[in-house]
Amino acid sequence: MKNRVQKVGRLLAEKGIGAMLVMQPENRYYLSGFTGDTGALLITPGTSYICVDFRYIEQAREQSPHLHLARVTGTIMEKLAEMRESTGFNTLAFEAGFINYHLYSTLRDKLPGVALAPLDGMVEKLRRIKEPSELEAIAASMALLDRGFEHICGFIKPGVTEAAVSLELEIYLRRLGASGTSFPFIVASGPRASLPHGEASDRVIGKGDILTLDFGVILNHYCSDMTRTVSVGAPPPEMEKIYYIVLEAQQAGLNAVKAGVGANSVDRAARNVIEGYGYGEFFGHGTGHGVGLAVHEAPRLSARDDTVLEAGMVVTVEPGIYLPGRGGVRIEDSVVVERGGCRLLTRAPKDRLMVIAQ
Ligand code: ZN
Ligand code: ZN
Repeated sequence: MKNRVQKVGRLLAEKGIGAMLVMQPENRYYLSGFTGDTGALLITPGTSYICVDFRYIEQAREQSPHLHLARVTGTIMEKLAEMRESTGFNTLAFEAGFINYHLYSTLRDKLPGVALAPLDGMVEKLRRIKEPSELEAIAASMALLDRGFEHICGFIKPGVTEAAVSLELEIYLRRLGASGTSFPFIVASGPRASLPHGEASDRVIGKGDILTLDFGVILNHYCSDMTRTVSVGAPPPEMEKIYYIVLEAQQAGLNAVKAGVGANSVDRAARNVIEGYGYGEFFGHGTGHGVGLAVHEAPRLSARDDTVLEAGMVVTVEPGIYLPGRGGVRIEDSVVVERGGCRLLTRAPKDRLMVIAQ
């Protein structure tokens, strides 16, 4: 983690910025290893600090030996003012996407004469390319999902509710060691499958329902994310048809992922397939996103993101078709970007539309 802090320090020096305040939880963890739920980092091109109060002193000392410990007795902002005296920074960068107006006003009041510089996504950019230890952690988190999918396919049957499926899946994954879910699971059955983000409801699953399961967990701080669509009983012919279109689109997306290509070109590859079958207007979201300490992080595989993919990035590929009032299909896998292609991290079966309770 020391080298991550040094990288930020070098970037700040290049920009002529004296110090950066890091408070966004994933960024804070990425640079410090500190797992407490409050605290701030003050990163400078020279010495860097972790500022915590009485409750976290011992923990910070243990988890962040590469940072100087600054004990907070009043508020973090008051501590910063004090540290300004000792470290002498004249410009303070802050996380523009995280610091709210209240914190910003406090910073301005407590640090008169310091230029406040909003920085957008500096640490997030570093986080895009995973180190080998991070890839291992993400792969372990993703591997739980394959086991979860296998388990839940044995649980789903006509008469159970979406909420019961979600709970069973979560308990199973927690028993395997997950510390939590990376988002509220999506269990969307029958006509509700047309809701791209249909959180599990009290709807009772019936025969002939298409069922979309989008789920992910946190293991050792790293998130995972996968979607499978199955049919409970014989699938409605329209849903079976769009399943294979989405599968073809997803394969086209996966085939397009490799170091050196634009994130938007992966989106294009998947979208072309769906548009080719005339369903373009029913695929209204981006094709994928980065996964790491956060379940949705940079880069985005969308028309608007021209990030060039690099080896070591982890992204999802998840096209879908959603027919309002009728149902929908999404298939999502997560992959590591490599030089000549990509490596699948989620391997649950998908090549045929799985039929449960035939
Ligand atoms: Zn997902
Ligand atoms: Zn996703």
